[in-house]
Amino acid sequence: MPTRYSAWSLIRHGVSGDDWPPILRQHDRRESYDVVIVGGGVHGLATAYYLAADYGVRNVAVLEKSYIGSGGSGRNTAILRSNYLTPEGVRFYDRSVKLYEHLAAELNFNVMFSQRGHLTLAHNDSSLRTMRWRTEVNKLQGVDSDMIDPDEIKKLVPYLDTSNTTRYPILGALYHPPGGIVRHDAVVWGYARAADARGVHIHQGTEVVGIDVDGGRVTGVRTADGHRIATGAVLNATAGWSTLISDMVGVRMPVQTFPLQAGVTEPVRPFLDTVVVSGTLHVYVSQTDRGELVFGASVDPYASYSTRGSLEFAEGVAGHVLQLMPALSKMRLLRQWAGLCDMTPDFSPIMGPTPVAGFYVDVGWGTYGFKAGPVSGEAMADCIVNGRPPEIIAAFGLDRFTAGRLVGEKGAAAVGH
Ligand SMILES: Cc1cc2nc3c(=O)[nH]c(=O)nc-3n(C[C@H](O)[C@H](O)[C@H](O)COP(=O)(O)OP(=O)(O)OC[C@H]3O[C@@H](n4cnc5c(N)ncnc54)[C@H](O)[C@@H]3O)c2cc1C
Repeated sequence: MPTRYSAWSLIRHGVSGDDWPPILRQHDRRESYDVVIVGGGVHGLATAYYLAADYGVRNVAVLEKSYIGSGGSGRNTAILRSNYLTPEGVRFYDRSVKLYEHLAAELNFNVMFSQRGHLTLAHNDSSLRTMRWRTEVNKLQGVDSDMIDPDEIKKLVPYLDTSNTTRYPILGALYHPPGGIVRHDAVVWGYARAADARGVHIHQGTEVVGIDVDGGRVTGVRTADGHRIATGAVLNATAGWSTLISDMVGVRMPVQTFPLQAGVTEPVRPFLDTVVVSGTLHVYVSQTDRGELVFGASVDPYASYSTRGSLEFAEGVAGHVLQLMPALSKMRLLRQWAGLCDMTPDFSPIMGPTPVAGFYVDVGWGTYGFKAGPVSGEAMADCIVNGRPPEIIAAFGLDRFTAGRLVGEKGAAAVGH
């Protein structure tokens, strides 16, 4: 087991000057594993952790073509919430928020989860209607969400322009106190360290280039350096690259990859302790513990694998943030970046078995999948061990697209993430 992080171990290392042991161990690749997980983001690592921690399945490899967290898991804006639109979605994301509440203690790694509240602004009657709808669905599922008026919004976020003379006046908001932000790298490293400690092999710099199928069943994976690893179970947890992996076994998925951009400003004194989202203006803003403002928007309007930032994004986001908070006009944007999002037609994930025996998917995470890491990991571990999806993900199967049982979350997932 790795060193336990505690005040005592901090003092001991401070006094002795000893180096901290590395978070991950390097392992030689085995000839075969019980489960091979493709993708070292939060989903792949969480699944590996729960396989080992909940079911004692330790002969597991996570194959990551770059470094862990190099995909969406290290590029997102780390908003967590469960105020979705469908009962299936609300139940699912609520389980994740509950797991996040205890994650730091479970992983012995400070993931810096700050439940500071999440505010979705309504600027017109149709948004108000959707938010009332969400409020009712949330309440029926036992999730803390309510509608609040502009005076209450102003008390929560004094810098918001709540006057009725703006181009997009704020008419109300969906307020969701359990929502907040987390430290994405810490979640990735926390799961990786805990999985490694339980015997999982995490192989970075290992790209999967082929998957062998014999008689309709997975038998192994092939890596870019010419190795073959035998296995009877492969999990595709590659988000933006997920169609490329599923194509290797001939499983077609209704997924398109779009870039999503975000940016941060220089740090300033804390003044914003709520996450603020405006779907109408396609923008959201939160403040990190370091004081930077984090801005985000909707996906770029074209499918692509590019992770370059664009001037169009910076201009758009700055203009829209200033409509909400004109006082920020002197803030300087420090940097911007992009990640890849695997978008599905109904803005819900695709999870569970596929027509190829032993080939599982945990994909379709679009712009909203970081918050789902813990619950997906827990559910996919259960699914792989028991061979069928547990109740909490039953609605998200690949077959819903042919059966016509879509789980429409666009109204709650498009910009809010
Ligand atoms: C700018 C931005 C903001 C976002 N904001 C939020 C937010 O606020 N809240 C939220 O919940 N979600 C948000 N998201 C979405 C979230 O980041 C993703 O849905 C989530 O991180 C997906 O995690 P993952 O583990 O499935 O995939 P990833 O973290 O993308 O990991 C997939 C991994 O697979 C690896 N891989 C790909 N192909 C191969 C191969 N052939 N062999 C081996 N490895 C391979 C990649 O290198 C990558 O590391 C945001 C995304 C972006 C880009």
